[in-house]
Amino acid sequence: MRIVVLGPPGSGKGTRAKIIGKIYSVPVITTGDMLRDAIAKGTEMGRLAEGYMNRGELVRDDIVIAVVEERLKKPDTDEGFVLDGFPRSVKQAEALDRILNEKGAELDAVLNVTARPETVLGRLTLRRSCPKCGAIYHLKDKPPKMPGVCDECGTGLIQRDDDKEEIIRHRLEVYEERTRPILNRYERMGKVRETSGELDIEEIPDEIRKVLEGV
Ligand code: ADP
Repeated sequence: MRIVVLGPPGSGKGTRAKIIGKIYSVPVITTGDMLRDAIAKGTEMGRLAEGYMNRGELVRDDIVIAVVEERLKKPDTDEGFVLDGFPRSVKQAEALDRILNEKGAELDAVLNVTARPETVLGRLTLRRSCPKCGAIYHLKDKPPKMPGVCDECGTGLIQRDDDKEEIIRHRLEVYEERTRPILNRYERMGKVRETSGELDIEEIPDEIRKVLEGV
């Protein structure tokens, strides 16, 4: 199962990617987490990525493509993977085609998660995340058991720098401008399956199975 999950920031693509990974037992490759990890570790790549991320811009294509290419060389991806947050530009989509071609592989489906801008904005401004294990909370819909503390690992929760309203609006513009065009591309290839980003979390696994049936 080789799947790309696409959708605007805050549409819930990360949640869906994790569920797909579990259902089909394939690794989930989340470029946003990999980049944040590089920043936290202070690597050269992290240093290059940090400014773009804090401004809500896309990190340079060559950097992100190199990260994903490296990751897709690992043998755990031979039987499949879910890409969450990549590709995000036409250049990246072309690079993915090339990388898969070289592996003699092909994408099975592109899951497009749709959500209204109001939903996304409401979600992201109230989103808090764990800087250590990556768990995600929502102050209203999914609060941690103890305020400000991760249920999974006890670390103090943070608001991502790019989850502030002005930056979120900019990320949405960047999505429309840079990422939306690749959806058209995958539509022409007949790969796109649509799903609503506004379902309750318990409904998602069944919905995913239905949408990806026959893939
Ligand atoms: P969201 O989908 O909610 O915007 P992500 O964690 O996927 O959150 O991405 C956060 C930021 O990481 C993006 O705004 C961008 O700066 C950077 N990033 C992640 N994936 C990519 C990518 N494929 N290409 C360029 N930048 C990326």
